[in-house]
Amino acid sequence: MDRIYLSPPHMSGRERELLLDAFDSNWIAPLGPHVDALEKEFAALVGARRAVALSSGTAALHLALILLGVGPGDEVLTSTFTFAATTNAITYVGAEPVLIDSDWNTWNMDPNLLAEELRDCAHRNRLPKAVVVVDLYGQSADYGPIREACRRYEVPLVEDAAEALGASYDGRAAGTFGAVGVFSFNGNKIITGGGGGMLVCDSDFLADRARFLATQARDPAPHYQHSRIGYNYRMSNLLAAVARGQLKVLDDRVAARRANFAFYRNALADAAGIDFMPEHPRCRSTRWLTCATIDPQRFGADREDVRLALEEANIESRPTWKPMHLQPAFDHCRLCGGDVSEHLFRHGICLPSGSSLTGDELSRVAGIVREVGARRLTKRKAA
Ligand SMILES: *Cc1c(COP(=O)(O)O)cnc(C)c1O
Repeated sequence: MDRIYLSPPHMSGRERELLLDAFDSNWIAPLGPHVDALEKEFAALVGARRAVALSSGTAALHLALILLGVGPGDEVLTSTFTFAATTNAITYVGAEPVLIDSDWNTWNMDPNLLAEELRDCAHRNRLPKAVVVVDLYGQSADYGPIREACRRYEVPLVEDAAEALGASYDGRAAGTFGAVGVFSFNGNKIITGGGGGMLVCDSDFLADRARFLATQARDPAPHYQHSRIGYNYRMSNLLAAVARGQLKVLDDRVAARRANFAFYRNALADAAGIDFMPEHPRCRSTRWLTCATIDPQRFGADREDVRLALEEANIESRPTWKPMHLQPAFDHCRLCGGDVSEHLFRHGICLPSGSSLTGDELSRVAGIVREVGARRLTKRKAA
């Protein structure tokens, strides 16, 4: 049987035409008309004034922190339950991540823990330079109370929406809740350019600054003049052409991923001990990945039993993110809470979630998951 992947790229057909246009016009890289068009289309889609196309989501995070003036010795509050790109970027500017646990309702940063930590920081007279909130698995964090806490202490917010393009909160697009928002076009995201990232903001000053820093900080002069250090972070015109084709079918991709989630939830509705990632009432998730926790007592088998049974059937699944406070690279960081993300990591699994999955493939996956638990429960009863 062909391998079923977790979240493979899914081209629509338009990408090839746009890529060949870039190729034939000899706008190969760097930059070019597809980059300009992608920025306009992307900004319009998420409802931001400006968008700056970059080489990766990680580069966008790095520049976001520089734009907000984060530097050596500063503290930055961020989600512990995330992919390492978030905390890595904080260390690139010499700042210290302070890790905040998740809540049960969104699996993202707990607004109460954030408010408490900001209050404690204010008492210590050492407010963080920024807060970086992550939107995991296609769902935004609870931005009502999060923005209120940030506003109260006047700490700027960066939204890492790399996993949440197409999601919304109170009807407004994920990625637009901070001073700067960050997206990724990496190969396993909901749409892909084969790589790439996007920085969005409503400030012309910040957007122009991001472009300047991303093109080696070239001052306006006919010769190469540099009054500060820059980066080579712009997106290639070839990748932008592919990403433009993908952007046109984003709504279809979201619908397909949500349908995957609904399928799994229905197919496993009567299996005790599987709890799917909740959707917060103010959020509309893309269900980028279908995630669930597995309670070994009630289900009969644990997360690893399920993952290994799927692997044996040539199906890729993955544990949920290992929290940053459990990572050797970040276990020295200050931590607020931690039990929720540890539970989600210990018991959480991401099921195959590609938008090109067929009904047969979804049935195969669900059938194997159901069988692992049922088999063990029968065995347990017999013993
Ligand atoms: C993928 C991802 C990134 C990084 O994006 P790249 O384009 O791969 O650099 C950042 N944050 C989160 C939460 C991600 O999932």
